[in-house]
Amino acid sequence: MTTTAQLLLGGARRGSATGRTFEVVEPGTGAVMAEVAEAGPEDVGLGVSLAARAFEEGRWPRLSATERGRVLLRAAELVRGQLEDLAVLEARGAGKPIRDARGEIALVAEVLEYWGGAANKIVGETVPVQDPGLDVTLREPVGVCAAITPWNFPMVIASWKVAPALACGNTVVVKPASYAPLSVLRLGEVLIEAGVPGDALSILPGPGGSTGAALVADPRVAKVSFTGSTEVGAQVMATAASNITRVSLELGGKSAGIVFADADLDAAARGSVAAAFANCGQDCCARSRILVQRPIYDDFVQQLAKCASELRVGRPLDEGTDIGPLISDAQRRRALDYLEVARNEGARTVEGGDVPEVPGGEHGFYLRPTLLADVDNSWRVAQEEIFGPVACVIPFGDEEDAVRLANDVPYGLSGSVWTRDLGRAIRVARAMRTGNISVNSSHSVHTEAPFGGYKRSGIGREMGLHAVDLYTEIKNVFFSEE
Ligand code: NAP
Repeated sequence: MTTTAQLLLGGARRGSATGRTFEVVEPGTGAVMAEVAEAGPEDVGLGVSLAARAFEEGRWPRLSATERGRVLLRAAELVRGQLEDLAVLEARGAGKPIRDARGEIALVAEVLEYWGGAANKIVGETVPVQDPGLDVTLREPVGVCAAITPWNFPMVIASWKVAPALACGNTVVVKPASYAPLSVLRLGEVLIEAGVPGDALSILPGPGGSTGAALVADPRVAKVSFTGSTEVGAQVMATAASNITRVSLELGGKSAGIVFADADLDAAARGSVAAAFANCGQDCCARSRILVQRPIYDDFVQQLAKCASELRVGRPLDEGTDIGPLISDAQRRRALDYLEVARNEGARTVEGGDVPEVPGGEHGFYLRPTLLADVDNSWRVAQEEIFGPVACVIPFGDEEDAVRLANDVPYGLSGSVWTRDLGRAIRVARAMRTGNISVNSSHSVHTEAPFGGYKRSGIGREMGLHAVDLYTEIKNVFFSEE
Protein backbone atom coordinates (compact mmCIF):
# COMPACT_ATOMS: atom_id res chain seq x y z
CA MET A 1 0.00 0.00 0.00
CA THR A 2 1.37 3.43 -0.95
CA THR A 3 1.22 6.17 1.65
CA THR A 4 1.91 9.89 1.39
CA ALA A 5 4.51 11.52 3.60
CA GLN A 6 4.69 15.28 4.01
CA LEU A 7 7.57 17.50 5.09
CA LEU A 8 7.97 18.25 8.78
CA LEU A 9 8.21 22.03 8.78
CA GLY A 10 7.35 24.50 11.53
CA GLY A 11 6.05 21.71 13.76
CA ALA A 12 3.49 20.43 11.24
CA ARG A 13 3.40 17.92 8.40
CA ARG A 14 2.78 19.79 5.15
CA GLY A 15 3.28 19.57 1.40
CA SER A 16 6.14 21.32 -0.33
CA ALA A 17 5.83 24.83 -1.78
CA THR A 18 5.93 23.44 -5.31
CA GLY A 19 3.59 20.54 -4.54
CA ARG A 20 6.20 18.17 -6.02
CA THR A 21 6.62 14.65 -4.65
CA PHE A 22 8.97 11.72 -5.24
CA GLU A 23 8.58 7.97 -4.86
CA VAL A 24 10.21 5.81 -2.22
CA VAL A 25 10.69 2.21 -3.34
CA GLU A 26 10.73 -0.75 -0.95
CA PRO A 27 14.04 -2.56 -1.63
CA GLY A 28 12.64 -5.97 -0.62
CA THR A 29 9.87 -5.93 -3.23
CA GLY A 30 10.80 -3.22 -5.73
CA ALA A 31 7.31 -1.73 -5.22
CA VAL A 32 6.57 1.93 -4.51
CA MET A 33 6.02 2.29 -0.77
CA ALA A 34 5.33 6.02 -0.40
CA GLU A 35 5.00 9.33 -2.18
CA VAL A 36 7.07 11.87 -0.31
CA ALA A 37 6.79 15.66 -0.52
CA GLU A 38 9.94 17.06 -2.13
CA ALA A 39 11.32 20.09 -0.32
CA GLY A 40 12.60 22.73 -2.73
CA PRO A 41 14.75 25.81 -2.12
CA GLU A 42 11.69 27.74 -0.86
CA ASP A 43 10.99 25.11 1.82
CA VAL A 44 14.67 25.02 2.77
CA GLY A 45 14.63 28.82 3.08
CA LEU A 46 11.57 28.66 5.34
CA GLY A 47 13.00 25.84 7.48
CA VAL A 48 16.25 27.76 7.97
CA SER A 49 14.38 31.05 8.71
CA LEU A 50 12.31 29.33 11.37
CA ALA A 51 15.38 27.67 12.86
CA ALA A 52 17.36 30.95 12.80
CA ARG A 53 14.55 32.81 14.57
CA ALA A 54 14.11 29.95 17.01
CA PHE A 55 17.80 30.20 17.78
CA GLU A 56 17.82 34.00 18.16
CA GLU A 57 14.56 34.46 20.07
CA GLY A 58 12.95 31.09 20.66
CA ARG A 59 12.44 28.86 23.66
CA TRP A 60 14.76 25.93 22.93
CA PRO A 61 18.20 27.53 23.40
CA ARG A 62 16.87 29.36 26.47
CA LEU A 63 15.49 26.31 28.25
CA SER A 64 17.71 25.07 31.04
CA ALA A 65 19.97 22.23 29.95
CA THR A 66 18.10 19.99 32.39
CA GLU A 67 14.79 20.77 30.65
CA ARG A 68 16.28 20.05 27.25
CA GLY A 69 17.57 16.78 28.61
CA ARG A 70 14.10 15.84 29.90
CA VAL A 71 12.64 16.40 26.43
CA LEU A 72 15.20 14.03 24.93
CA LEU A 73 14.51 11.45 27.63
CA ARG A 74 10.78 11.69 26.83
CA ALA A 75 11.60 11.19 23.15
CA ALA A 76 13.59 8.05 24.04
CA GLU A 77 10.56 6.62 25.82
CA LEU A 78 8.27 7.51 22.91
CA VAL A 79 10.61 5.66 20.53
CA ARG A 80 10.62 2.62 22.82
CA GLY A 81 6.82 2.73 22.96
CA GLN A 82 6.57 2.36 19.18
CA LEU A 83 9.65 0.24 18.62
CA GLU A 84 7.96 -2.49 16.60
CA ASP A 85 6.14 -0.01 14.33
CA LEU A 86 9.31 1.94 13.69
CA ALA A 87 11.32 -1.24 13.13
CA VAL A 88 8.85 -2.44 10.48
CA LEU A 89 9.01 0.98 8.79
CA GLU A 90 12.83 0.92 8.80
CA ALA A 91 12.96 -2.72 7.65
CA ARG A 92 10.65 -2.01 4.72
CA GLY A 93 12.07 1.41 3.82
CA ALA A 94 15.77 0.55 4.01
CA GLY A 95 15.56 -3.19 3.24
CA LYS A 96 16.86 -4.32 6.63
CA PRO A 97 16.28 -7.68 8.28
CA ILE A 98 13.60 -7.03 10.89
CA ARG A 99 15.81 -8.30 13.73
CA ASP A 100 18.48 -5.75 12.80
CA ALA A 101 15.87 -3.01 12.42
CA ARG A 102 14.62 -3.67 15.97
CA GLY A 103 18.18 -3.33 17.22
CA GLU A 104 18.61 -0.05 15.37
CA ILE A 105 15.42 1.50 16.75
CA ALA A 106 16.47 0.41 20.25
CA LEU A 107 19.78 2.14 19.53
CA VAL A 108 17.98 5.35 18.53
CA ALA A 109 16.23 5.32 21.93
CA GLU A 110 19.60 4.72 23.60
CA VAL A 111 21.17 7.66 21.75
CA LEU A 112 18.31 9.97 22.76
CA GLU A 113 18.66 8.75 26.34
CA TYR A 114 22.42 9.29 26.33
CA TRP A 115 22.02 12.91 25.20
CA GLY A 116 19.07 13.43 27.53
CA GLY A 117 21.41 12.51 30.37
CA ALA A 118 24.37 14.42 28.95
CA ALA A 119 22.60 17.76 28.32
CA ASN A 120 23.22 19.17 31.80
CA LYS A 121 26.73 17.77 32.07
CA ILE A 122 28.18 19.84 29.23
CA VAL A 123 30.40 22.24 31.11
CA GLY A 124 33.13 24.80 30.60
CA GLU A 125 36.38 25.07 32.54
CA THR A 126 38.42 27.47 34.60
CA VAL A 127 41.82 28.36 33.15
CA PRO A 128 44.83 29.36 35.28
CA VAL A 129 45.86 32.44 33.26
CA GLN A 130 48.73 34.69 34.39
CA ASP A 131 46.77 37.96 34.65
CA PRO A 132 45.07 38.60 37.98
CA GLY A 133 41.46 37.54 37.71
CA LEU A 134 39.30 34.60 36.74
CA ASP A 135 39.32 33.01 33.31
CA VAL A 136 36.49 30.67 32.34
CA THR A 137 35.29 29.01 29.17
CA LEU A 138 31.63 28.76 28.19
CA ARG A 139 30.25 26.09 25.87
CA GLU A 140 27.66 27.82 23.69
CA PRO A 141 25.47 26.35 20.93
CA VAL A 142 26.69 27.06 17.40
CA GLY A 143 23.32 28.12 15.93
CA VAL A 144 21.36 26.56 13.10
CA CYS A 145 22.75 23.09 12.37
CA ALA A 146 22.11 21.30 9.08
CA ALA A 147 22.16 17.49 9.27
CA ILE A 148 22.53 15.64 5.98
CA THR A 149 22.11 11.91 6.37
CA PRO A 150 22.53 8.69 4.33
CA TRP A 151 20.16 5.78 3.71
CA ASN A 152 22.11 2.90 5.22
CA PHE A 153 21.16 3.55 8.88
CA PRO A 154 18.56 6.25 8.33
CA MET A 155 17.10 6.79 11.77
CA VAL A 156 20.21 5.89 13.75
CA ILE A 157 22.47 8.34 11.93
CA ALA A 158 19.86 11.10 12.09
CA SER A 159 19.69 10.55 15.87
CA TRP A 160 23.50 10.76 16.15
CA LYS A 161 23.29 14.30 14.80
CA VAL A 162 19.95 15.64 16.01
CA ALA A 163 20.23 14.46 19.63
CA PRO A 164 23.60 16.08 20.48
CA ALA A 165 22.80 19.21 18.45
CA LEU A 166 19.55 19.70 20.39
CA ALA A 167 21.12 18.76 23.72
CA CYS A 168 23.66 21.56 23.22
CA GLY A 169 20.86 24.09 22.54
CA ASN A 170 21.05 24.37 18.75
CA THR A 171 18.19 24.37 16.28
CA VAL A 172 18.28 21.83 13.45
CA VAL A 173 17.21 21.27 9.85
CA VAL A 174 17.61 17.69 8.57
CA LYS A 175 17.90 16.60 4.93
CA PRO A 176 17.44 12.80 4.97
CA ALA A 177 18.54 10.52 2.13
CA SER A 178 16.01 10.27 -0.69
CA TYR A 179 16.03 6.45 -0.67
CA ALA A 180 14.90 6.20 2.96
CA PRO A 181 13.42 9.38 4.44
CA LEU A 182 10.34 7.92 6.18
CA SER A 183 11.80 6.91 9.54
CA VAL A 184 13.67 10.22 9.84
CA LEU A 185 10.38 12.09 9.44
CA ARG A 186 9.00 9.93 12.25
CA LEU A 187 12.01 10.74 14.44
CA GLY A 188 11.22 14.44 13.94
CA GLU A 189 7.59 13.88 14.93
CA VAL A 190 8.61 12.01 18.06
CA LEU A 191 10.95 14.82 19.12
CA ILE A 192 8.25 17.43 18.60
CA GLU A 193 5.73 15.35 20.52
CA ALA A 194 8.30 15.08 23.32
CA GLY A 195 8.56 18.87 23.54
CA VAL A 196 11.04 20.23 20.98
CA PRO A 197 9.43 23.43 19.63
CA GLY A 198 8.22 23.02 16.04
CA ASP A 199 10.36 25.87 14.70
CA ALA A 200 13.53 24.39 16.23
CA LEU A 201 13.48 21.21 14.13
CA SER A 202 12.49 20.59 10.51
CA ILE A 203 12.89 17.47 8.38
CA LEU A 204 13.07 18.26 4.68
CA PRO A 205 13.42 15.35 2.22
CA GLY A 206 14.47 16.20 -1.31
CA PRO A 207 17.27 15.63 -3.82
CA GLY A 208 20.77 16.10 -2.44
CA GLY A 209 21.99 18.05 -5.43
CA SER A 210 19.33 20.77 -5.01
CA THR A 211 17.66 20.55 -1.57
CA GLY A 212 20.81 19.42 0.24
CA ALA A 213 23.03 21.85 -1.65
CA ALA A 214 20.66 24.77 -0.90
CA LEU A 215 20.77 23.92 2.79
CA VAL A 216 24.58 23.77 2.88
CA ALA A 217 24.87 27.07 0.94
CA ASP A 218 22.49 29.02 3.20
CA PRO A 219 24.61 31.58 5.07
CA ARG A 220 22.32 31.36 8.12
CA VAL A 221 23.39 27.75 8.64
CA ALA A 222 26.23 27.81 11.16
CA LYS A 223 27.20 24.16 11.04
CA VAL A 224 26.79 21.25 8.63
CA SER A 225 27.03 17.70 9.88
CA PHE A 226 27.23 15.38 6.89
CA THR A 227 27.29 11.60 6.61
CA GLY A 228 27.60 10.08 3.17
CA SER A 229 30.07 9.40 0.40
CA THR A 230 33.52 10.93 0.24
CA GLU A 231 32.70 12.52 -3.16
CA VAL A 232 29.63 14.37 -1.90
CA GLY A 233 31.42 15.19 1.36
CA ALA A 234 34.07 17.05 -0.64
CA GLN A 235 31.35 19.05 -2.43
CA VAL A 236 29.69 19.89 0.88
CA MET A 237 33.01 21.06 2.29
CA ALA A 238 33.69 23.22 -0.77
CA THR A 239 30.26 24.88 -0.62
CA ALA A 240 30.48 25.44 3.12
CA ALA A 241 33.90 27.06 2.70
CA SER A 242 32.48 30.21 1.14
CA ASN A 243 30.60 31.09 4.35
CA ILE A 244 33.17 29.53 6.72
CA THR A 245 30.35 27.26 7.82
CA ARG A 246 31.58 24.67 10.31
CA VAL A 247 31.63 21.18 8.81
CA SER A 248 31.97 17.68 10.16
CA LEU A 249 32.09 14.76 7.78
CA GLU A 250 31.51 11.04 8.28
CA LEU A 251 32.44 9.49 4.95
CA GLY A 252 33.28 6.22 3.26
CA GLY A 253 35.58 3.39 4.27
CA LYS A 254 37.50 0.36 3.06
CA SER A 255 38.38 -1.10 6.40
CA ALA A 256 40.52 -4.13 7.14
CA GLY A 257 40.02 -7.01 9.54
CA ILE A 258 43.45 -8.52 10.29
CA VAL A 259 43.44 -12.20 11.27
CA PHE A 260 46.69 -13.49 12.78
CA ALA A 261 47.46 -17.20 12.89
CA ASP A 262 47.24 -17.26 16.71
CA ALA A 263 43.66 -15.93 16.81
CA ASP A 264 40.56 -17.80 17.97
CA LEU A 265 39.81 -18.73 14.38
CA ASP A 266 36.14 -19.68 14.89
CA ALA A 267 35.42 -16.31 16.47
CA ALA A 268 37.52 -14.53 13.84
CA ALA A 269 35.68 -16.21 10.97
CA ARG A 270 32.22 -15.49 12.38
CA GLY A 271 33.22 -11.93 13.32
CA SER A 272 34.87 -11.22 9.95
CA VAL A 273 31.80 -12.42 8.06
CA ALA A 274 29.50 -10.33 10.26
CA ALA A 275 31.74 -7.28 9.87
CA ALA A 276 31.79 -7.65 6.08
CA PHE A 277 28.18 -8.53 5.31
CA ALA A 278 25.93 -7.02 7.99
CA ASN A 279 23.44 -4.57 6.49
CA CYS A 280 24.23 -6.25 3.16
CA GLY A 281 27.71 -4.70 3.29
CA GLN A 282 26.19 -1.20 3.15
CA ASP A 283 28.05 -0.11 6.22
CA CYS A 284 30.74 2.56 6.28
CA CYS A 285 32.57 0.43 8.88
CA ALA A 286 32.34 -2.81 6.87
CA ARG A 287 35.62 -4.70 7.13
CA SER A 288 35.46 -5.43 3.40
CA ARG A 289 39.16 -6.43 3.31
CA ILE A 290 39.94 -9.53 5.34
CA LEU A 291 43.73 -9.83 5.74
CA VAL A 292 44.76 -13.37 6.68
CA GLN A 293 48.21 -14.57 7.77
CA ARG A 294 49.73 -16.99 5.25
CA PRO A 295 50.12 -20.16 7.41
CA ILE A 296 46.35 -20.31 8.02
CA TYR A 297 45.26 -18.70 4.75
CA ASP A 298 43.83 -21.68 2.81
CA ASP A 299 41.96 -23.21 5.75
CA PHE A 300 40.66 -19.86 6.92
CA VAL A 301 39.32 -18.98 3.46
CA GLN A 302 37.32 -22.23 3.63
CA GLN A 303 36.06 -21.32 7.08
CA LEU A 304 35.01 -17.85 5.91
CA ALA A 305 33.24 -19.33 2.89
CA LYS A 306 31.33 -21.74 5.12
CA CYS A 307 30.20 -18.95 7.48
CA ALA A 308 29.16 -16.75 4.54
CA SER A 309 27.22 -19.61 2.93
CA GLU A 310 25.20 -20.04 6.13
CA LEU A 311 23.82 -16.50 5.97
CA ARG A 312 20.18 -16.56 4.97
CA VAL A 313 19.33 -14.02 2.30
CA GLY A 314 15.66 -13.16 2.49
CA ARG A 315 12.87 -10.64 2.72
CA PRO A 316 13.31 -7.95 5.37
CA LEU A 317 10.19 -8.87 7.34
CA ASP A 318 10.99 -12.61 7.56
CA GLU A 319 12.26 -13.34 11.06
CA GLY A 320 14.87 -15.79 9.75
CA THR A 321 16.55 -13.33 7.38
CA ASP A 322 20.20 -12.49 8.02
CA ILE A 323 20.86 -10.48 4.87
CA GLY A 324 18.24 -8.35 3.13
CA PRO A 325 18.38 -6.64 -0.24
CA LEU A 326 20.58 -3.74 -1.29
CA ILE A 327 18.92 -0.33 -1.20
CA SER A 328 18.32 -0.09 -4.96
CA ASP A 329 18.82 -1.81 -8.24
CA ALA A 330 21.52 0.77 -9.05
CA GLN A 331 23.45 -0.18 -5.91
CA ARG A 332 23.19 -3.88 -6.82
CA ARG A 333 24.33 -3.12 -10.38
CA ARG A 334 27.34 -1.29 -8.93
CA ALA A 335 28.25 -4.32 -6.79
CA LEU A 336 27.82 -6.70 -9.75
CA ASP A 337 30.04 -4.43 -11.88
CA TYR A 338 32.74 -4.66 -9.21
CA LEU A 339 32.48 -8.46 -9.31
CA GLU A 340 33.21 -8.29 -13.01
CA VAL A 341 36.18 -5.98 -12.33
CA ALA A 342 37.41 -8.39 -9.64
CA ARG A 343 37.24 -11.39 -11.95
CA ASN A 344 39.20 -9.47 -14.60
CA GLU A 345 41.76 -8.48 -11.99
CA GLY A 346 42.25 -12.16 -11.10
CA ALA A 347 40.18 -12.68 -7.93
CA ARG A 348 38.79 -16.12 -7.13
CA THR A 349 35.10 -16.21 -6.10
CA VAL A 350 34.83 -18.69 -3.23
CA GLU A 351 31.27 -17.91 -2.18
CA GLY A 352 28.25 -16.09 -3.64
CA GLY A 353 28.52 -13.81 -6.63
CA ASP A 354 25.00 -14.48 -7.88
CA VAL A 355 21.51 -13.07 -7.48
CA PRO A 356 19.58 -15.51 -5.27
CA GLU A 357 15.95 -16.49 -5.70
CA VAL A 358 13.95 -14.97 -2.89
CA PRO A 359 10.32 -16.16 -2.92
CA GLY A 360 8.06 -13.13 -2.71
CA GLY A 361 11.01 -10.86 -3.45
CA GLU A 362 11.41 -11.48 -7.17
CA HIS A 363 11.55 -7.74 -7.86
CA GLY A 364 13.72 -6.89 -4.85
CA PHE A 365 17.42 -6.00 -5.03
CA TYR A 366 19.07 -9.11 -3.55
CA LEU A 367 22.64 -10.28 -4.01
CA ARG A 368 24.30 -13.23 -2.29
CA PRO A 369 27.16 -12.34 0.09
CA THR A 370 30.27 -12.72 -2.03
CA LEU A 371 33.74 -13.65 -0.92
CA LEU A 372 36.67 -12.97 -3.27
CA ALA A 373 39.94 -14.71 -2.40
CA ASP A 374 43.57 -14.20 -3.51
CA VAL A 375 43.02 -10.46 -3.95
CA ASP A 376 45.96 -8.08 -4.25
CA ASN A 377 45.57 -4.98 -2.12
CA SER A 378 46.41 -2.72 -5.06
CA TRP A 379 43.44 -3.92 -7.12
CA ARG A 380 40.43 -1.64 -7.55
CA VAL A 381 38.21 -4.09 -5.74
CA ALA A 382 40.44 -3.73 -2.67
CA GLN A 383 40.92 0.03 -2.92
CA GLU A 384 37.42 1.36 -3.73
CA GLU A 385 34.36 1.33 -1.52
CA ILE A 386 31.79 -1.03 -3.06
CA PHE A 387 29.08 -0.58 -0.42
CA GLY A 388 27.55 -3.99 -1.06
CA PRO A 389 27.96 -7.59 0.16
CA VAL A 390 31.41 -8.10 -1.36
CA ALA A 391 34.52 -8.86 0.71
CA CYS A 392 38.11 -9.44 -0.42
CA VAL A 393 40.45 -11.90 1.28
CA ILE A 394 44.10 -10.87 1.08
CA PRO A 395 47.07 -12.91 2.36
CA PHE A 396 49.86 -11.33 4.42
CA GLY A 397 53.20 -12.40 5.90
CA ASP A 398 54.14 -10.75 9.20
CA GLU A 399 52.81 -8.02 11.49
CA GLU A 400 54.56 -5.24 9.59
CA ASP A 401 53.12 -6.49 6.32
CA ALA A 402 49.60 -6.59 7.81
CA VAL A 403 49.81 -3.00 9.04
CA ARG A 404 51.23 -1.80 5.73
CA LEU A 405 48.39 -3.42 3.77
CA ALA A 406 45.70 -2.28 6.22
CA ASN A 407 46.88 1.33 5.90
CA ASP A 408 47.40 1.26 2.15
CA VAL A 409 43.96 2.65 1.16
CA PRO A 410 42.71 6.25 0.95
CA TYR A 411 40.26 5.65 3.82
CA GLY A 412 40.67 5.24 7.57
CA LEU A 413 37.39 4.62 9.33
CA SER A 414 37.39 1.28 11.10
CA GLY A 415 39.20 -2.02 11.50
CA SER A 416 39.53 -5.23 13.49
CA VAL A 417 42.51 -7.14 14.82
CA TRP A 418 42.11 -10.83 15.67
CA THR A 419 44.93 -12.22 17.83
CA ARG A 420 45.56 -13.80 21.25
CA ASP A 421 48.80 -11.82 21.63
CA LEU A 422 48.02 -8.72 23.67
CA GLY A 423 51.28 -6.96 22.86
CA ARG A 424 50.65 -7.41 19.16
CA ALA A 425 47.07 -6.20 19.52
CA ILE A 426 48.32 -3.01 21.16
CA ARG A 427 51.04 -2.43 18.55
CA VAL A 428 48.76 -3.04 15.59
CA ALA A 429 45.88 -0.97 17.02
CA ARG A 430 48.32 1.93 17.47
CA ALA A 431 49.79 1.56 13.99
CA MET A 432 46.50 1.41 12.08
CA ARG A 433 45.55 4.81 10.65
CA THR A 434 41.83 4.59 11.37
CA GLY A 435 39.44 6.24 13.79
CA ASN A 436 37.95 3.05 15.24
CA ILE A 437 39.50 -0.33 15.91
CA SER A 438 38.06 -3.39 17.59
CA VAL A 439 40.28 -6.12 18.96
CA ASN A 440 38.75 -9.61 18.78
CA SER A 441 35.41 -8.05 17.94
CA SER A 442 33.41 -6.92 14.95
CA HIS A 443 31.79 -4.00 16.79
CA SER A 444 33.05 -0.53 16.06
CA VAL A 445 30.24 1.74 17.19
CA HIS A 446 29.32 2.48 20.80
CA THR A 447 26.91 5.22 21.85
CA GLU A 448 29.29 6.37 24.60
CA ALA A 449 32.53 6.35 22.57
CA PRO A 450 33.84 8.67 19.83
CA PHE A 451 33.30 7.64 16.23
CA GLY A 452 34.84 9.09 13.07
CA GLY A 453 37.45 8.76 10.39
CA TYR A 454 41.08 9.43 9.54
CA LYS A 455 42.16 10.37 6.00
CA ARG A 456 39.31 10.45 3.44
CA SER A 457 36.88 8.88 5.88
CA GLY A 458 36.05 12.23 7.38
CA ILE A 459 36.64 15.03 9.84
CA GLY A 460 35.36 15.17 13.42
CA ARG A 461 34.06 12.67 15.96
CA GLU A 462 30.41 11.92 16.54
CA MET A 463 29.07 9.94 19.51
CA GLY A 464 30.15 10.09 23.10
CA LEU A 465 30.92 13.44 24.70
CA HIS A 466 33.39 14.20 21.89
CA ALA A 467 30.35 15.19 19.81
CA VAL A 468 29.95 18.24 22.05
CA ASP A 469 32.90 19.74 20.16
CA LEU A 470 30.86 19.56 16.94
CA TYR A 471 27.82 21.36 18.27
CA THR A 472 29.29 24.05 20.54
CA GLU A 473 31.52 27.08 20.27
CA ILE A 474 33.96 27.74 23.09
CA LYS A 475 33.88 31.27 24.45
CA ASN A 476 36.66 32.44 26.72
CA VAL A 477 35.70 35.03 29.38
CA PHE A 478 38.26 36.81 31.56
CA PHE A 479 37.11 38.65 34.71
CA SER A 480 39.75 41.10 35.88
CA GLU A 481 40.33 41.24 39.59
CA GLU A 482 41.84 44.74 39.41
P1 NAP B 1 25.63 10.18 -0.58
O1 NAP B 1 25.19 9.88 -1.95
O2 NAP B 1 26.88 10.94 -0.38
O3 NAP B 1 24.40 10.95 0.10
C1 NAP B 1 24.41 11.33 1.47
C2 NAP B 1 23.42 12.45 1.67
O4 NAP B 1 23.88 13.61 0.98
C3 NAP B 1 22.03 12.16 1.11
O5 NAP B 1 21.05 12.75 1.93
C4 NAP B 1 22.09 12.86 -0.25
O6 NAP B 1 20.83 13.18 -0.79
C5 NAP B 1 22.86 14.11 0.13
N1 NAP B 1 23.50 14.80 -0.99
C6 NAP B 1 23.83 14.31 -2.22
N2 NAP B 1 24.43 15.29 -2.96
C7 NAP B 1 24.47 16.40 -2.18
C8 NAP B 1 24.98 17.73 -2.38
N3 NAP B 1 25.56 18.10 -3.51
N4 NAP B 1 24.87 18.59 -1.35
C9 NAP B 1 24.32 18.25 -0.18
N5 NAP B 1 23.81 17.01 0.06
C10 NAP B 1 23.89 16.10 -0.93
O7 NAP B 1 25.79 8.88 0.30
P2 NAP B 1 24.76 7.67 0.43
O8 NAP B 1 24.80 6.93 -0.86
O9 NAP B 1 23.44 8.14 0.97
O10 NAP B 1 25.44 6.82 1.61
C11 NAP B 1 26.48 5.95 1.36
C12 NAP B 1 27.82 6.55 1.73
O11 NAP B 1 27.77 7.06 3.05
C13 NAP B 1 28.93 5.55 1.72
O12 NAP B 1 30.08 6.09 1.13
C14 NAP B 1 29.18 5.29 3.19
O13 NAP B 1 30.46 4.82 3.50
C15 NAP B 1 28.90 6.61 3.78
N6 NAP B 1 28.57 6.49 5.21
C16 NAP B 1 29.48 6.93 6.14
C17 NAP B 1 29.19 6.79 7.49
C18 NAP B 1 30.18 7.25 8.53
O14 NAP B 1 29.77 7.42 9.66
N7 NAP B 1 31.44 7.45 8.21
C19 NAP B 1 28.00 6.22 7.90
C20 NAP B 1 27.11 5.80 6.94
C21 NAP B 1 27.40 5.95 5.59
P3 NAP B 1 20.11 12.14 -1.80
O15 NAP B 1 19.79 10.96 -0.99
O16 NAP B 1 18.93 12.87 -2.27
O17 NAP B 1 21.11 11.85 -2.88
